[in-house]
Amino acid sequence: MSEKRRILTGDRPTGRMHLGHYVGSLRNRVRLQHEYECYFIIADLHMLTTKNSKEEIEQIADNARGMVLDYLGVGIDPTVSTIFLQSAIHETYELALLLGNLVTVPRLARLPSIKEMARAALMDEDTIPFGLLGYPVLQAADILLPKAHLVPVGKDNQAHVEITRELARRFNNQYGEVFPIPDDLVEGDTLPGTDGQAKMSKSLGNVIFLTDDAATVRKRVFSMYTDPNRIRADIPGNVEGNPVFTYLDHFDPDKAGLEEIKARYRAGRIGDVEVKERLANALNAFLDPIRDRVAYYAAQSGLVDEILYDGTLRYREIAGQTLREVKKAMGITGTFNRIARKAEERKKKLARQ
Ligand code: ATP
Ligand code: MG
Repeated sequence: MSEKRRILTGDRPTGRMHLGHYVGSLRNRVRLQHEYECYFIIADLHMLTTKNSKEEIEQIADNARGMVLDYLGVGIDPTVSTIFLQSAIHETYELALLLGNLVTVPRLARLPSIKEMARAALMDEDTIPFGLLGYPVLQAADILLPKAHLVPVGKDNQAHVEITRELARRFNNQYGEVFPIPDDLVEGDTLPGTDGQAKMSKSLGNVIFLTDDAATVRKRVFSMYTDPNRIRADIPGNVEGNPVFTYLDHFDPDKAGLEEIKARYRAGRIGDVEVKERLANALNAFLDPIRDRVAYYAAQSGLVDEILYDGTLRYREIAGQTLREVKKAMGITGTFNRIARKAEERKKKLARQ
């Protein structure tokens, strides 16, 4: 392993990535991949905690491909970073089971994030599966297997990194130092939806996907929520809390020009059409190279699969190494070794007779 500190982060394969993901997490990852040794998890086991029908499982491969394409599109470099499929790592299942003994049920049940996920999946307290309650333990296994030092997460997952820290400390105290205690890195801003809702989210249908074509982006921008009080161009408008300007702040590189537009908007000297025109152009200019890279990777049959496959094989080595250390530290390896030694002695003795 190299000297660099390690990062573990990723996404559940529930669909394609949008501008919200870019602002919240992807942008950061592209930057961090050269500073840290990065492991990006396609967390399909996490998806199973709320979506686990055969049909949903059948979708995972395609969703994972789309997600990897989007990673590559924004500039994640597969020769530098490792992208892997969680469900192909048996060590994850094993470590999660072992860690589950080091945390109490009430500690997990109190987490607002679990209640929130249950609500989103239309479950009430009595129908929360064991697996969903164990979501943070599974996440701890993800983080601890590569011995990650830093975990970029959304605010809603911050408490899970805290659980991970508790588990790592408890493990180290009880069995010996195996794990670094990971830090969290709370992600960037939350991007509002095109409808002005607090969060851009697939389930709310207020998204612009990284791979939407130029015409779709234009259409989405022109139907965007702005300042509702502004029924005419000569009425002074609100820039703050206006998603069109929030997007411009993120994606318009001409900051001086943008300040001028904002001043005119506040003074009621510019129409919404001109502002939206500017945003559509800025977004399309931003998305063009992403769409090109996605098209480049998608055009080469099997390349995305190969990247995910190779990353997963690479990750298996690391996961195997850590799990061996874990079992050795706990004494689990010794248990079977002692049994095996006796059994082998007997077999040899019988063979000699
Ligand atoms: P969606 O919410 O669109 O269905 P998802 O469920 O895959 O997508 P989440 O689980 O809500 O996404 O979040 C995954 C990661 O992406 C989190 O780290 C979250 O912080 C980030 N993210 C998602 N939506 C946004 C957003 N609108 N702004 C900033 N970050 C976001
Ligand atoms: Mg979501």
